Amino acid sequence: MSDKRNFSYVVSSFYVFYPLKKETLETFRDKIESKGRSLGLVGLYLLGHEGANATYSGLLSDVLTFESYLADALKAHADSEEELKLEFKKSPSHFQPFKEFRVKVREEIVTLGREDLVPKDRKRHLSVDEFHEMLQRDDVVILDTRNDYEYEIGHFKGAIDPKIKEFRDFPEYLKASGLPKAAPTLIYCTGGIRCEKAILAMEEQGFDNVYQLEGGILKYLEKYPQGRWEGECFVFDHRLAVDAELKPTTKFKFCPHCGQPATQPITCKRCDAGAVVCTKCLEASTHKETCSRNCAYHFQRRPDKKGAPQEKSFLAQKLTEASGEAHHSG
Ligand SMILES: [Zn+2]
Ligand SMILES: [Zn+2]
Repeated sequence: MSDKRNFSYVVSSFYVFYPLKKETLETFRDKIESKGRSLGLVGLYLLGHEGANATYSGLLSDVLTFESYLADALKAHADSEEELKLEFKKSPSHFQPFKEFRVKVREEIVTLGREDLVPKDRKRHLSVDEFHEMLQRDDVVILDTRNDYEYEIGHFKGAIDPKIKEFRDFPEYLKASGLPKAAPTLIYCTGGIRCEKAILAMEEQGFDNVYQLEGGILKYLEKYPQGRWEGECFVFDHRLAVDAELKPTTKFKFCPHCGQPATQPITCKRCDAGAVVCTKCLEASTHKETCSRNCAYHFQRRPDKKGAPQEKSFLAQKLTEASGEAHHSG
């Protein structure tokens, strides 16, 4: 089956723990925002005293222009003499997966709820090859540091699911986990940033044999699309997930009720339109056998009354705005 989508955009992401001057964070934010917008990029860029964490997309030449600008700009606002090392992860997209380009100043560039845990130097990073090698061993614990809905649509073979709703729950999970503290433990996340803090939280609790995947799943799939990864990789933008070739998913849609990955085709009980809903919502209540929150609301009140199909579901509408083209949700 050939993929007829036209991958004219590049999605790029990076993070860096690199002290930035607190006093100029706001002006720095404005500068980056106007640079990104002037290049026609869309995305979300988090900035803090501890560094930067961003995902954005645009045409390749514009993305590259932005990135060379960034390197100089970060150095100009540095609060230390540290060497700046930026590693960008890139993947193709047939649409722009954000609505606009926004830069936000945050206490933490990834939220563990622990401003005191700032990664200082490289801590037990494994390259993609080393990690791949370790994954084959049978004496290692493989621990996912992501949320339950991310694990659900894809994870490394044999990995443990902490079943957390958000990253800040990870330390609590650890305490109750009963995982062996001395066993060699491999941790991973989407792009690597969560593991930078997770490993500190683990060490604090006495886990002293932990290794993290450098560059995360995105870097792993670049090299091993047919490796130890099973399923797809959730991403926090309108692509929803990427497949093993790092292309936007064709398997999952956004559930119109909860916004999470959905695969169950249904016919809306109110308007008869086709839709794709997640299994959790379907199990939760019959009025979610509908194409939208609007139909669910009306169906719940008057199950006997049919209604006209909506032009577009709320999320499909958002996607259309994001992509700036007639992106069909079906
Ligand atoms: Zn749902
Ligand atoms: Zn409907």
